[in-house]
Amino acid sequence: MKRKFLPVLALSLLLSACTAPIQPTPTSEPTSVPQANETLLAMDTVMQLTVYGDNATAALSAAKSEILAMENRLSVTLEGSDIWKLNHSEGQPVTVGDDAVFLLETARDLGDKTGGALDVTLYPVVKAWGFTTGEYQIPPEDTIASLLGRVDYTALSWEGNDVTLPAGMEMDLGAIAKGYAGERAADILRDNGVTSALLNMGGNVQTVGAKPDGTAWRIGIRDPQKSATDYLGVLSVIDQAVVTSGGYERFFEEDGVRYWHIMDPKTGAPARSGLTAVTIVSHSGALCDGLSTSLFVMGLEKASDYWREQGDFEAIFINEENEVWITPGLRDSFSLTQNSGYTLHIVEE
Ligand code: FAD
Ligand code: MG
Repeated sequence: MKRKFLPVLALSLLLSACTAPIQPTPTSEPTSVPQANETLLAMDTVMQLTVYGDNATAALSAAKSEILAMENRLSVTLEGSDIWKLNHSEGQPVTVGDDAVFLLETARDLGDKTGGALDVTLYPVVKAWGFTTGEYQIPPEDTIASLLGRVDYTALSWEGNDVTLPAGMEMDLGAIAKGYAGERAADILRDNGVTSALLNMGGNVQTVGAKPDGTAWRIGIRDPQKSATDYLGVLSVIDQAVVTSGGYERFFEEDGVRYWHIMDPKTGAPARSGLTAVTIVSHSGALCDGLSTSLFVMGLEKASDYWREQGDFEAIFINEENEVWITPGLRDSFSLTQNSGYTLHIVEE
């Protein structure tokens, strides 16, 4: 039995590059605008925060505090977090913070709209595969079947901030909370007068405004088949979140088969939809994060239908046939790199 897995630090560094800002070329003029930078490890991710403007240092400090506070409230593993309390509540109501309630509402809405492709109660299954500990294994089919009996996001209920998770169930907001942390951090920066910032949070990139020179941020979209620094294309954005879910982020291999951490709640196994990565672009980091996971599960055809129905985001879908499908709104802002080996297609409206 052959197993490969990446140690946490290497993994974190990898995560930091799945969707990443392209560094300025050496010929760029150095900017005279004041700037503050910080690299922090939070949510098991190396985060690089860059903020421009006169109030950059104070604003960055406030945004960083919020990210760390959100980690303390929303982590599934940290004892005493809202989610930890819910998972140890044995069916009793737990009073949680506003961000947990917002994320539960967003996740339920996305769960309903995606036919259950996003399910925050999948955690027992994710644990059984070892994705929470690095002790990877393929669980026996009867174990998965029995665990799936404890998976159903519609069983979660809440009144105000009092949330009830039925006894025997466990939940985790890992598929959506990092995107929301980026969104909240951006809001805090804006409240502090910042008009230009780049928050690189692993596969999640959150931008505030444009670059200090007024041009768009350039975000590299990683080639799922290659190393973390190989981009198949570049996306230009202003004041948007860009979130990617890919089968290369967290995985193990056994007998030549790759098993990744994005799971299909219908099968309790890694989602095999033909997609290898999904990038979502919108104003809301939480929406981007929730959709990048669930549209990966749904596959190109159903994901395109979903986009046609909802239309409140743009997307880049990469499939096993080396095709890159983009929604029409990205026509002018996305381009393949030269000799990428991929073909570009536009999702029909
Ligand atoms: P995404 O596609 O956004 O999410 C995939 C993750 O969501 C999976 O890992 C699984 O947990 C879950 N999932 C899989 N399929 C589904 C589905 N269909 N529906 C719903 N959920 C699904 N990781 C650690 O190793 N140690 C930590 O201490 C740690 N702390 C964290 C604290 C917080 C607050 C958050 C938000 C995450 C933390 N993580 C931690 C998790 C780590 O950052 C994950 O890699 C990340 O949350 C998953 O994001 P992603 O972009 O890789 O993949
Ligand atoms: Mg996600």
